[in-house]
Amino acid sequence: MARLRRGTPGLIRDLNRAAILGMIGDGGPIARVEIARRLALSAAAVTDITRELVEAGLVQQVEQGPSSGGRPPILLGLVGAAAQAVGVKIAADHLAFVRVDLNGNVLARRTEPFETAGPGALVKLADRLRGAVDEAGRGPGRLLGIGLGVPGIVDAAGNVTAPIVGWSGLALAPMLRGALGVPVLVDNDVNTLAVAERLYGRGRGVEHFITVTIGRGVGLGIVVGGDLYRGFGGGAGEFGHLPIADDGPPCECGKHGCLEAAVADPALARRAIDAGLVGTQDPDPMASLRRLADGGSEAARMIYADAGATLGRAVGGLVNVLSPQLIIVSGEGTEAWRHLAKTFRRALDAAVFPPLRGVRVDVDPWDDAKWARGAAALVLRATFTAPLYERQPEDAVRERLGGRSDPGPTIAQGAASLVAR
Ligand SMILES: [Zn+2]
Repeated sequence: MARLRRGTPGLIRDLNRAAILGMIGDGGPIARVEIARRLALSAAAVTDITRELVEAGLVQQVEQGPSSGGRPPILLGLVGAAAQAVGVKIAADHLAFVRVDLNGNVLARRTEPFETAGPGALVKLADRLRGAVDEAGRGPGRLLGIGLGVPGIVDAAGNVTAPIVGWSGLALAPMLRGALGVPVLVDNDVNTLAVAERLYGRGRGVEHFITVTIGRGVGLGIVVGGDLYRGFGGGAGEFGHLPIADDGPPCECGKHGCLEAAVADPALARRAIDAGLVGTQDPDPMASLRRLADGGSEAARMIYADAGATLGRAVGGLVNVLSPQLIIVSGEGTEAWRHLAKTFRRALDAAVFPPLRGVRVDVDPWDDAKWARGAAALVLRATFTAPLYERQPEDAVRERLGGRSDPGPTIAQGAASLVAR
């Protein structure tokens, strides 16, 4: 369990510095007077700390704000080129990379095939990431770290359990940090998507929202009070395993009747095959089913309509529990959303406690790079959050931003730990 840091005058200054940097990163460009007002700090303290941030090359005067009669205020923004972060979405069969600047602007992106299962996968993963570290070394600003989004549960220490890629209690973050010599932060991939939505997408400025993903599985990212809700041990958001039927079809998790076993791609493909709509040897049954529905097949449309109703009812239950302002639906399954939308909305409204009805639903087009950008944002966010607790992996990111290098274990030691696995 992380321990609260001892209170010292230096700590208060570090907290204020992180809060100001966070406010400029999240809400900038912003005037000093507005920072002071929102953080309830004295004008002198804000002037003092922002001068230090400008001198460190992290913050700059970006534009003049609108004048209310007097001298127009000076607005402060981040210096994008001051630092970089790499974000990677790890899927069962590929890696999606992005490299971003301190403002979160994408400098480079690519997708590579990758097999997460099998011997030597971790050594290969470290090799690919080392390539990304080398590329960052030729880009502007120092590399703050690597953020990884994985399709599984990630605890506070960065241990990953992800049956879909064959990992169980894997100490992924410490191992890779040792192998690469840069800070490595890991989180559930839907959480990284929710972070991307919060910082750069539809969730910007929204305090309470949920991101529901559909496709290979069903995922959930929960943002409460502007921050991710992870639950005990990082397990929050396993919405795909919500029980919806006593004797439903078997789920990959070993239970029966999970939401995912009724509405995720494998379930829809199974129904399409059973109905004789799609052949058992079809290499891409979901694309075939979608084409049929697009072409007017009632049987194909019924499969999506049923899935929309089941999902809508389950999400309605979430609305009753969490009362979000906004529901963002994302994931590769949204390619067929037009066939789910109507029954989803009807079932959602029917399930929601009447005073909570009318919640906005936004559908986000499927984009792998957005998840990776969210993974990079795990790293950027570390520079904006208050260092209240001791020895978080975020400390190493903050130290790099401040120019203090964090050697970590040597590369040889890290490589040995990977091989020893
Ligand atoms: Zn399940």
